[in-house]
Amino acid sequence: MKTLLVCEYREGKLLDSSYELVAFAERLGAEKALVIIGSEPEAPKVNGKVYVAAAATYGEYNPDLHKKLVLEAVQRENPDYIVFLHSSYGWDLAPRVAAALKAGQVSEVVGIVDGKLEVGFCNAKLRRIVSAKSARTVVTIQAGAFSFTGEATGTPQIEKLDTTAASSVEFIGYEPAEAKDVDLTRAEVIVSAGRGIGKKDNVPVIAALAKALGGELGASRPVVDSGWVEHSHQVGTTGQSVSPKLYVACGISGAIQHLAGMKKSDFVVAINKDKDAPIGEIADVLVVADVMQFVPAMTAKLMK
Ligand SMILES: Cc1cc2nc3c(=O)[nH]c(=O)nc-3n(C[C@H](O)[C@H](O)[C@H](O)COP(=O)(O)OP(=O)(O)OC[C@H]3O[C@@H](n4cnc5c(N)ncnc54)[C@H](O)[C@@H]3O)c2cc1C
Repeated sequence: MKTLLVCEYREGKLLDSSYELVAFAERLGAEKALVIIGSEPEAPKVNGKVYVAAAATYGEYNPDLHKKLVLEAVQRENPDYIVFLHSSYGWDLAPRVAAALKAGQVSEVVGIVDGKLEVGFCNAKLRRIVSAKSARTVVTIQAGAFSFTGEATGTPQIEKLDTTAASSVEFIGYEPAEAKDVDLTRAEVIVSAGRGIGKKDNVPVIAALAKALGGELGASRPVVDSGWVEHSHQVGTTGQSVSPKLYVACGISGAIQHLAGMKKSDFVVAINKDKDAPIGEIADVLVVADVMQFVPAMTAKLMK
């Protein structure tokens, strides 16, 4: 079984998330070849074949040309799986490649069960196991679902990739997102509110702990979707990726999409009334308690 892993490159750099594709291939027990439309010095540090096309020629993003380049690599490698991250790059390019190959696409894969693909549904509350009927499968993987634990120290065997195809679009550049009222990416301490806090009126209780610790208020997605907290505070795949010294998760279960945004925190304290909540698997300290009793008591102690 063989995978072709489509890596990502932005503003002159390979994105580290590309190694999650390698972790996926390893979990599948499959051979791998990689593709990057970037630059040779930024080719992923893995042992094995890496197809490199120059972003200087084809643009850091161009759906027409990148599709052609990936298809060229597919022709040369004949992979069973063509794998992308479920990012803005992957979710735009993967369906174009799947349509061109008449291949089935499985999106937002979060796991592998007996060699089949596991995806979430019902807002990630349930999982289904799927496989495509086509000979080849195009896959996008959920950010954070496959962690690369090895060292990126391999020596890539570079193969040049080119196309003579023309494009009807042109990559112009990146536009920075609007400034937000809070920049969680720089915070050293983040105290985040999850659905377990119960209601909007309880948000100030969590914010008070954040203040007492000299940190910022974060939130899980349901808290934002319910309108209790602004989206600029959301941590996770559709929020911000943070790496504070201390992350306190208050009434947060530990869904993959949330963990993807905060797993680089140095020290994680989770407060949850469920001792088996998945957040416990990555927390350094799990406090099994009612968050609305524990947090005010802790804030009061800190204020003393
Ligand atoms: C495409 C996609 C993108 C997503 N992006 C994000 C994202 O960026 N960020 C994100 O957070 N989520 C994201 N999600 C949603 C994610 O899958 C989860 O649904 C979400 O993270 C759950 O939030 P939660 O932990 O606050 O709530 P829940 O999963 O409902 O967990 C609440 C927790 O609180 C505990 N609890 C309840 N009452 C108390 C109490 N009184 N005291 C202590 N503990 C209590 C419960 O035991 C439970 O563990 C995304 C989902 C999808 C499909």
